[in-house]
Amino acid sequence: MNPRERLRIAMQKSGRLSEPAFELLERCGLSFRQSRDKLFCYGEGEPIDLLLVRDDDIPALIAQGVCDLGIVGRNVLEEYACTGGGEACVPLQALRGLGFGACRLAIAVPQERAYAGPQSLRGLRIATSSPGLLRRWLERHGIAAQVVTLAGSVEIAPRLGTAEAICDLVQTGSTLAAHQLREVDTVLESEAVLAAPCALPVDERGDAIELLLRRLDGVNRVRGSRLLQLLVERSAVDAIARLLPGAPKPTVLELAGQPGEVMLQALCSDELDWRQLERIKQAGARELFVLPVERALA
Ligand code: ATP
Ligand code: ZN
Repeated sequence: MNPRERLRIAMQKSGRLSEPAFELLERCGLSFRQSRDKLFCYGEGEPIDLLLVRDDDIPALIAQGVCDLGIVGRNVLEEYACTGGGEACVPLQALRGLGFGACRLAIAVPQERAYAGPQSLRGLRIATSSPGLLRRWLERHGIAAQVVTLAGSVEIAPRLGTAEAICDLVQTGSTLAAHQLREVDTVLESEAVLAAPCALPVDERGDAIELLLRRLDGVNRVRGSRLLQLLVERSAVDAIARLLPGAPKPTVLELAGQPGEVMLQALCSDELDWRQLERIKQAGARELFVLPVERALA
């Protein structure tokens, strides 16, 4: 493997994670030019390129050194840790949770089947596309059951008679309900993560990783945050501060020619709904503004 100077990130080509992953990188100030075969995206500003692939291939591409990082579901990353690579398995880590692609790997059974905990699965056939994670979970609970590995359409297995239970990814539960299945246990909580080898590169690519992490943290820090700005009598500052969601430390600014009054600014962890604003106003604030926050650099 020739050392590369540019950082290469593996991403899902098309699927649930593609759009939010692109959006996140855009918010990190990265832009790309796509190759004609739509497999490769060349970074325009920073030395960071993308390789667009099936999500299941991402852990192995990182382990083989074809890519340095990947944006992939925690479920796929952990499934690789359970079953991938075999002896040659390079340990991978999740550097950051990315705040999208939230779902859970769940056990579900037909509506009418009783479930009183993992022991109810003893001796059953369980259909799944995540055999490694399911086996690990069954072992942890000391349950002997038969794992039936399917590439897709896991939810129809009970009706086809090929399994009595399933272990599948669930977001809202509507797919399960549509197949008369009932979610009964959670194997893994997942979201999209930034995956990397446990040993990060120490060359130029390491610098690019640091830059990316700094920007991701900047985007993350202000995700859902709002800047609240208001005017208030100096004596009411403490009362207002107690009402701020997430208990941020407000900045208090002097106003020219108005000694008794100050401007207060606070980065709130919450959107601040009308009710919260009304309560803050009742505590003595006026001229309230709730401002969006684009990015932050500590
Ligand atoms: P690919 O062609 O890349 O293999 P895929 O069909 O395996 O696509 P998607 O269905 O797009 O992948 O799911 C990608 C990831 O999105 C999952 O691995 C999981 O982390 C996450 N995800 C979030 N909600 C769900 C859901 N309801 N069902 C499946 N995956 C979900
Ligand atoms: Zn996949």
